Amino acid sequence: MPVHLRAWSLDRPKIPALPTVDNLLLRNPNGLYCAAGDFYVDPWNPVERAVITHAHADHLCAGSKSYLCARPGEALVRGRVGKEAAIESLACGEPRNISGVQVSFHPAGHILGSAQVRIERHGQVWVVSGDYKLAFDPTCTAFEAVPCHTFITESTFGLPIFRWPAPGQTLAEINAWWRGNQQVGKASVLFAYPLGKAQRVIAGIDSSIGPVYTHGAVELCNGIYREMGIALPATQYVRSAAPKTDWTRALILAPPMAKTSPWLRRFGDLSTGMASGWMRIRGTRRRRSIDRGFVLSDHADWPALLNAVRASRASRVWVTHGYRAPLARWLAELGLDADTIETRFESEQAADIAGEAEL
Ligand SMILES: [Zn+2]
Ligand SMILES: [Zn+2]
Repeated sequence: MPVHLRAWSLDRPKIPALPTVDNLLLRNPNGLYCAAGDFYVDPWNPVERAVITHAHADHLCAGSKSYLCARPGEALVRGRVGKEAAIESLACGEPRNISGVQVSFHPAGHILGSAQVRIERHGQVWVVSGDYKLAFDPTCTAFEAVPCHTFITESTFGLPIFRWPAPGQTLAEINAWWRGNQQVGKASVLFAYPLGKAQRVIAGIDSSIGPVYTHGAVELCNGIYREMGIALPATQYVRSAAPKTDWTRALILAPPMAKTSPWLRRFGDLSTGMASGWMRIRGTRRRRSIDRGFVLSDHADWPALLNAVRASRASRVWVTHGYRAPLARWLAELGLDADTIETRFESEQAADIAGEAEL
């Protein structure tokens, strides 16, 4: 292991956890619960009051009495839980007092509107990261380090093998693959998670290469991104394409679930690709059914997880959502009070399923 990763635990001032009778947050069968404020963060079941980090399905379920989220993500949250739902939003950094507990949202850099939740009571500060990344993404606000006593971090890719190439490099590979397919007369179908990943790809590719088409699930999210002021090059919904469209020049963005769908037949001769962090290790297996894997993740890789923990200055860290135990062990070795907390996705196999759900 690189020496410099060990060094930082010594050279930074940590914020010691305050002596406290109760934890500010605890896990119960519905998820992470703040008893003092009587609210949940990303509950798994419908509850009275849900504070939401972002609009991905594993963090947001419909049916709660009320929702509180970061303002840039409100339209996406509404799109998932329904027009009638009681949703309130706060600007990033704007505090809200809930029964004596101060709650605020801070950018997580994961997808549009994704936020860390900062929770403060009697001088004790907890931060729930939700999903996050530190890599550049023009479609959302960059991750902001929020000092706290206790940091609850995700660990979707919490193993040292997960290290992402620079996003620009992966996007250049996608451009080259698209051009190559044009030269041999094949349509380029790229599978990407429709909320977040697809927009990051569309914003980052060289749209002068050819027309960009989208599956309905992607175009729906594109519309919300554009309404929220995120600049995306022109895209066209596949269904509205002219009858004799020449697909061999096109890049077509589709959700992974379309991989086995007859929807693909219309494109004739095609090459398939997938953009995901899982391509870092799952490539061999997945490439049996997909021609190209592109490593592009909206989650922190191993070095970024460690950097985020360091930047939080927390002395206590709870690890959730993915490869929890390896990251918690590593943090404990660095001298932190580190522990794991359960999520709905427990086993490595389940983490893979989560990966399928959110690439
Ligand atoms: Zn997510
Ligand atoms: Zn997630």
